[in-house]
Amino acid sequence: MRARSGGPASTIRAVATKEERRAELTAVYREARVCTRCPELARTRTQVVFGAGNADADLMFVGEAPGAKEDEQGIPFVGAAGKLLDRLLGEVGLARSDVFIANVLRCRPPGNRDPLPTEIENCSDYLMRQVALIQPRVICTLGNFSTKLLRGDPTGISRLHGQAEIRVIGARAVRLYPLFHPAAALYTRSLLETLQADFARLPALLALAPPEQPEPPVPPQPAVPEPALAAPEARPPLLPEPLEPVERYAPPVPEPPDDRQLGLF
Ligand code: URA
Repeated sequence: MRARSGGPASTIRAVATKEERRAELTAVYREARVCTRCPELARTRTQVVFGAGNADADLMFVGEAPGAKEDEQGIPFVGAAGKLLDRLLGEVGLARSDVFIANVLRCRPPGNRDPLPTEIENCSDYLMRQVALIQPRVICTLGNFSTKLLRGDPTGISRLHGQAEIRVIGARAVRLYPLFHPAAALYTRSLLETLQADFARLPALLALAPPEQPEPPVPPQPAVPEPALAAPEARPPLLPEPLEPVERYAPPVPEPPDDRQLGLF
């Protein structure tokens, strides 16, 4: 049984059982798998890569975006960078089944180009909901994109890696621990050694007491009715009546494969 700190976002969460949170995560997945917020990504992806691992994990990793292999298999970090991530986890006594792995984007950018700011914004709500439902104590951002997104600050990973700080993500306080992206360490020995040294501090970070949770947001108060105002004098409309809505052309979005990603978390 893992310890949970009491608090605001955790008020909802403290009430929700592990099963209820997983059921909600499944609902978020079903929404994400047919997402068309980014028309280009929706058109070009094979499937949405929602995230995989333990839906009740204390430790969550957030990478950048799916690549070709991830897009094909629907699983994050299954390519060369993923193999290195598995190895780094193993070196500190962890396995994929202990952690949850997600990305800033849930769709592969064509040609593995960088995520665009609008795409990051469109997809961030899925990540926030994943964090709220999984309730990790520690989030490792992998590389610049996730570090900048979750810190809300443009400081780069070279300056931040290996330094944990308590941050409120959505309504949840977590220990944020920026790390170099494993893809960057694949071909640079010194970066690999740095990444290994940063990973080596993870067990100690996970052993710390969970961060204090922020105060719960004030619940909405019942509305006090205002005395009715006199109706304004009717004025002639300044604009002509709106035209009948025109049906817009919506490019076809490929039908996602079946729900086999449900078995991933
Ligand atoms: N790189 C990422 O950032 N995410 C993946 O899922 C795979 C490679």
